[in-house]
Amino acid sequence: MNQRTLKENLSFEGVGIHSGTFAKILLHPEREDTGIRFLKDRVYIPANFRFVVSTDHSTDLGKDGVVIKTVEHLMAVLYMLGVDNVTIEFVKGFEVPILDGSGYYFYKFLKDNVINLNAPASIVEIKHSFEVRNCKANIKAIPYQGFSAVYVGGLEGFFEERSVEFNGNVKDLVFARTFCYDYELKHLINRGLAKGGSLKNALLLGRGFVYNRGGLRSEDEPLRHKLLDLIGDLALFGRRIKGRVISHKGGHTLNHQFVVGLESFLSNLSDTTFTSSSVSTP
Ligand code: ZN
Repeated sequence: MNQRTLKENLSFEGVGIHSGTFAKILLHPEREDTGIRFLKDRVYIPANFRFVVSTDHSTDLGKDGVVIKTVEHLMAVLYMLGVDNVTIEFVKGFEVPILDGSGYYFYKFLKDNVINLNAPASIVEIKHSFEVRNCKANIKAIPYQGFSAVYVGGLEGFFEERSVEFNGNVKDLVFARTFCYDYELKHLINRGLAKGGSLKNALLLGRGFVYNRGGLRSEDEPLRHKLLDLIGDLALFGRRIKGRVISHKGGHTLNHQFVVGLESFLSNLSDTTFTSSSVSTP
């Protein structure tokens, strides 16, 4: 499997869902081993978990005082298309445009614009299972042929528990929009979030109903979005993962803890003293 980049420059623009500010990003092709990185105010911020500065309702990266917000949907699409090398320059603003709330437009314009480079991709194989958990949720990685990701969760007022899976078909996930429940909205706004949110770029859910005209794009659209978020956060591992990752009700914060823990787990595999209250190994 080879590394990939883009054929040509691509741009996206629009409002950011949390800041409400307009942004324009320009994606530049890069040569092998550059990795994915963001560029703003002449500061390059690697798309890597080490630069995560917030996981509060979005995954934000920062370096040298420069912060960029809500990288997860774009990162998920780049990961699913196997793009390893690209610079994402903020020409204006600091939050990745939310577009329609899903990964659809990133996918639509990126999918025919991906090319192979003459270098092998960096792949990490999960040979032993690894898990992180908090009181309500857990995320586990197990050995698997290839990459697969699963999200298991419920949808208040709709159904108790279902699972959705990504097994290589990008179209299974890219349409799924970000969402919030009506009772959460006031809390988000009070905290200065969701300033750019509207029914055009997010699903607003009541208990058992949807405020958006047209309803859900699939019965389990919010779960598919959670899976898109998971893959976007996994992409910050910086290498492709050969393994199966199963999230039970995880969100951005646990996704991040998983990636941080996975890195330590892999580098400490031979170190029998490695234990943590949030990490268990069979
Ligand atoms: Zn999301």
